[in-house]
Amino acid sequence: MNSTSPVAKPVPPVTKPVPIPNEDSQAFWDAAKRGVFLVQQCTECGAHRFPPQAICTECSSLASEWKPVSGKGKVWSYVVFHRAYHPAFKEEIPYAVACIELDEGPRLLANVRGIAPDKLRCEMRVEAILEDAADGVRIPNFRIAEGA
Ligand SMILES: [Zn+2]
Repeated sequence: MNSTSPVAKPVPPVTKPVPIPNEDSQAFWDAAKRGVFLVQQCTECGAHRFPPQAICTECSSLASEWKPVSGKGKVWSYVVFHRAYHPAFKEEIPYAVACIELDEGPRLLANVRGIAPDKLRCEMRVEAILEDAADGVRIPNFRIAEGA
């Protein structure tokens, strides 16, 4: 509140930051909008990779293609945030940020939904969910796999 007005101006809602696609990742984000989870696969050695990048981390080839993945994997590691490092996450603390290892091999950071952070464990089976975020972006997060 400032000294010239006794009425506080409405504060716009704080939104979570969303990824900004680049040349390497545009295809991934476009597919996610359509509900398809793609990763790059090296056409030389067959390695899947994530995040998107120009060069294969296994054989240094520049040749790759986009392939849909199962979205299934496991919790490789995780941390539980008890402090909001961005105001848009304040209402969610405590929450877990997990390193998920996809069955195809790549690892990515994501939230695991539907489980209390203190119940999460390494090796738990998870499956991807593409969640709507701001600006029409869909972000891959995970939930505990059915039957796990
Ligand atoms: Zn390769």
